[in-house]
Amino acid sequence: MREILNEMTISFKALSVNEGFARACVAAFCVQANPSLDEITDIKTAVSEAVTNSVVHAYPKKPGDITIKVELYSRSVTIYVSDKGVGIDDFEKAREPFYTTKPNEERSGMGFTVMESFMDNLELIKNEGRGLTVKLEKFFSIKKNVAVGE
Ligand code: ATP
Ligand code: MG
Repeated sequence: MREILNEMTISFKALSVNEGFARACVAAFCVQANPSLDEITDIKTAVSEAVTNSVVHAYPKKPGDITIKVELYSRSVTIYVSDKGVGIDDFEKAREPFYTTKPNEERSGMGFTVMESFMDNLELIKNEGRGLTVKLEKFFSIKKNVAVGE
C-alpha cells in the first residue's frame, strides 16, 4: 500500500487570473516529495490545461468555482481538478486531438492531449449533479544518491 504523505484542497473562482495561481500553488505543494524539475514542469503544464478548461468551457454564463485536491505520496501525486459547470457528454470525443467546441476562439483542441502526454494517467469523471473532474496522476522517478566525485 502506498502511504499518503500529505493532502490539500484549494478552491477559487473560475477566472483566468487564477490559472497561474493554481499551477504555482500545486507545484509548491508537490516540492516536498522532492520531484525533479522536469516533473514539476510537467505537473504545472497539466494543471494549467485543466484549470484553463474549467475557466473557458465550464461556466458559459457566470464563473462558478474550481476546486483542486492534491494527494501527495512519496513516489507519486494525484491531482483532482473539479468544476460544477456544464460537463462533457462524450469523453472519448473530447479527448481526441484537435477536437474543440470553440474553434473560433484560438482553441486548438489539444488540452487533454497535452495533459495525457505530460502525466502518467488522465481520467475524466462526471461529477454527481453537474460538472467535470479531471484526475491527473504523475509518478516521480527514483533518484540515486550520487556520491561526491563520481
Ligand atoms: P485548447 O485546450 O487546445 O485551448 P480546447 O480547450 O477546446 O482547446 P481540450 O482542452 O482538449 O481542447 O478540450 C476539448 C473539449 O472538451 C473542449 O473544447 C470542450 O468542449 C470540452 N471541455 C474540456 N474541459 C471542459 C470542462 N471543464 N467543462 C466542459 N467542457 C469541457
Ligand atoms: Mg483546453
